[in-house]
Amino acid sequence: MERRALAIFAHPDDVDFGAAGTVARWVDEGWNVRYVCVTRGQKGAWDAHMDVEEYGALREAEQRAAAKVVGVTDVTFLDWMDSEVFDSLDLRRALAREFRRHRPHRLLTMTPDPLPTDRFVNHPDHRAVGQAALDITMTGGTTASIFPELLDENLPPWRECAETWLMGPAVKPRAVDITATIDRKLDAIRSHASQIGDRDIDTMMRTRLRDAGRVFGLPYAETFRVITYRR
Ligand SMILES: [Zn+2]
Repeated sequence: MERRALAIFAHPDDVDFGAAGTVARWVDEGWNVRYVCVTRGQKGAWDAHMDVEEYGALREAEQRAAAKVVGVTDVTFLDWMDSEVFDSLDLRRALAREFRRHRPHRLLTMTPDPLPTDRFVNHPDHRAVGQAALDITMTGGTTASIFPELLDENLPPWRECAETWLMGPAVKPRAVDITATIDRKLDAIRSHASQIGDRDIDTMMRTRLRDAGRVFGLPYAETFRVITYRR
């Protein structure tokens, strides 16, 4: 049986910072992993005069390259504007459509927590996307009477998603040993050149992943909160 995983995230690079080592492992284990990115990260530049469409196209290309590094070739971009994503009926419908289309056994998305640590505020797009993605697993993704218009698109509800994995900055209870895939994760992150500049991202990420691993007795780890559905 094919095992499918779907990652839903807000901006190009979110999945690579949060979970690319784990995605690479899943691919190695035979999972068919697909990505849905809600924006193109059009506002990710410091320059207020940057052409947003042009910048979004650059970041889309970076995300497609990063996906390829970890073995993901199916990448869909939805047309939301960066920093203008709200948990809305339109967002839920769009994510329910992707959920029903990809029929994942495992969903990966962003923690909707506004304050996952005491060091910064979780980006509002991350919160909105995480909230809506979680919610459709109980509503529009799985329930025929919600968004009946999706039935006209030949997209019946999908009820075989067993788990949702939440990625985010804090150390969370479920650890994945990414020692074997950390080099691919770092390659994937380096694909987002527009976001990295001349920062020493390798050292920064290795330190962060080693610190997370130490908690679990692993060399390098990504950590998640995992919801296992009881239906
Ligand atoms: Zn982001």
